[in-house]
Amino acid sequence: MVEALQSPAQATYWLISGQTLFVTLNLLGLACFAYIVTKRLTPLMRGERDIRFDRPFIRLERFLQFWLGQWKHPRYRVAGTIHIFIFAGFILLATRAFSLLILGMSENFALPGSSVGIGHVYEIIADYAATIVFLCMIAAAARRINFRPARYEVPAKYGTGHKIDAIFLLSLIAILLFSESLFEASKAASLAQQGHTEFLATFSMAWVLQSALSSESLSTLWNLHRGAYLLDVLTFYFLLCYRPFGIQFHVETSLFNVYFAKLDRGTVKPVRWGVTEEHLDQVKSFGVKAFEDFTWKHMLDFYSCADCGRCSDNCPANAVGRPLSPRFLTIKARDYSFQHYPMFGARGNGTALIGGIYSEDEVWSCTTCGACEEECPLLIEYIDKIVDLRRGLVDDGNVPKSIQKALKALEGRGNPYGKMEKKRADWARAEDFLATCDVKVLNGKKTAGTLYFVDSITSYDDRIQAIGRATARILDNVGNDFGILGAAEKDSGHEVRRFGEETLFMALRDNNVDAIKASNVQRIVTADPHAYNALKHDYKDVPPVEHISQVIAREVKTGNLKLNPVENQDNVYAYHDPCYLGRHNQVYDDPREVLDAIPGLRRVEMSRCRDRSFCCGGGGLMLFYEPKEEQRMGVKRVQMAAEAGANVIVTACPFCMVNMEDAIKVAGMEGKMTAIDLAELVAQQMVSNSPTDESSADRLAEADRLVTA
Ligand code: SF4
Ligand code: SF4
Repeated sequence: MVEALQSPAQATYWLISGQTLFVTLNLLGLACFAYIVTKRLTPLMRGERDIRFDRPFIRLERFLQFWLGQWKHPRYRVAGTIHIFIFAGFILLATRAFSLLILGMSENFALPGSSVGIGHVYEIIADYAATIVFLCMIAAAARRINFRPARYEVPAKYGTGHKIDAIFLLSLIAILLFSESLFEASKAASLAQQGHTEFLATFSMAWVLQSALSSESLSTLWNLHRGAYLLDVLTFYFLLCYRPFGIQFHVETSLFNVYFAKLDRGTVKPVRWGVTEEHLDQVKSFGVKAFEDFTWKHMLDFYSCADCGRCSDNCPANAVGRPLSPRFLTIKARDYSFQHYPMFGARGNGTALIGGIYSEDEVWSCTTCGACEEECPLLIEYIDKIVDLRRGLVDDGNVPKSIQKALKALEGRGNPYGKMEKKRADWARAEDFLATCDVKVLNGKKTAGTLYFVDSITSYDDRIQAIGRATARILDNVGNDFGILGAAEKDSGHEVRRFGEETLFMALRDNNVDAIKASNVQRIVTADPHAYNALKHDYKDVPPVEHISQVIAREVKTGNLKLNPVENQDNVYAYHDPCYLGRHNQVYDDPREVLDAIPGLRRVEMSRCRDRSFCCGGGGLMLFYEPKEEQRMGVKRVQMAAEAGANVIVTACPFCMVNMEDAIKVAGMEGKMTAIDLAELVAQQMVSNSPTDESSADRLAEADRLVTA
């Protein structure tokens, strides 16, 4: 009996030998799994090309960090900790699970090293791992049933929740772990009755079960032993084959999804991978219109989503009630794929995505802020998919009217306002400014080492021009030999590209690249994070670019730029990270270091700061588009600043400034809150002979007055 207990291969199940039964079950299980996975991979084979086999070492490093190291999970402490325990347990238990499967086919099978010290240590660790994962399953199920976080909820417009499915899967895993422990415990109890000792980790589930079974008869223990084994094998294969039908498919796909994840922040995918810009005219249709227009990697994203809701929990569009929730962009596409690529029978006819599963408003609602991508533990991508869906809409002429006007103006005049090119440098000709700072226009006759790339909003918006003048003053004050392109500069095209108008973007970019090259500058500085991102990631062959906050931080550090103390030390400042400076380009510290270098300045952090910053409401063309929403993003943001105890919001982006000042008015916080750009603040505080820009001085004076009052 003792010998028989050691391997289920020697048992008999309904007159069939254990070995025959388990060879059959293993073959059947693997065949079913292979069939299901092949079916699931069919759409990926039909999807668009995507180049993801480059830079293997970087990919491996990220794989180790984000997949094996579960790097992003602790961002949600409770759920993240539970997940890390479950994941680590799975990794540890995988070896035992596979060796158990072989045991049913080969009675003498033993893993190499299992009978020596390391094997015993592994068994003890595995016993504890099984126990911890089992308890985590109960905790996760309880969380789903009783303490369900709001982010798991499924609004009625997105269908029904996945609670039952999630609990069913958690139960299956719990059964698997229980059956493995019972298998071990029954064997250990049986051996103990015959005077042999098999060590089980104290207080582990197997140990508890062994204690409970110690007085059972040998035949009962034998029946439990072989029954537990059969249950284990059946549950294992059921789980394996069931997972590709729902969110648990991410267990298999996440490994590949993380390895093949996008490597370059701030970039946008090309219209078609492998098609050069010169050959774009041969592309029949731009963007994504049908499901198969997504790339294979984007389809893999759909399968890899764990439905944890973190993306939507951080999405500003979702927070203000716009018709967009990134989580459901993925879930809807996955459901579509399952429906149109069924396990049996013919493929579906394929409905158009827009109007079928997505609405136009949904696609236009995204600000491309990147909060969803930053949060997703599985590195699922959203911005490229949204841009591709927009490219499809633009290609079909389905562009919101308000944006059509801006696009037309960009095409004709190189700026979304439709203003004259020759007026582009007027901001630098304001009389009081000109008297103190003469900005060179690099038109071939004049040269400079640095180009200040101004971009459209700073060039033409009356309020934002003050940021341009402040930037020029700072550059002048630190002795930088700089100039601007003037009428030769056109919009950077950053938002144009992200709104799906690739051809117009290319025209704007080519104009600017030619003008930059003709200016012979060695470096570029800009105060606009959108221009910064475009010049850094969307343009090729231009000199290196810096954001003005990086220049200021360096000059402050070297002592070349000195800052006066703030006049009113009762003011409390909060820095708002612009998405395209922070999340997309990781510039978080420089602006903070600059603020902290101003003597007497009191700074607080908003609860959502740095890589969790909350988008102000959309830069660029979002200023020309009124999405359906319950509240403005900017209003939410100024409320966050107030909650943090600040009365001055400092930002480092002209678009943020427009949105913040607007939001302060809409929120009725005029007189309680004010907004200022970092460059304006520095120009105000720097030790300089140049008089400060009146408008920014006025705003700070107003903040001072309010606090004093
Ligand atoms: S990029 Fe920003 S707005 Fe767009 S879906 Fe992601 S979080 Fe939402
Ligand atoms: S996309 Fe990522 S963050 Fe969003 S629900 Fe899926 S797994 Fe979670």
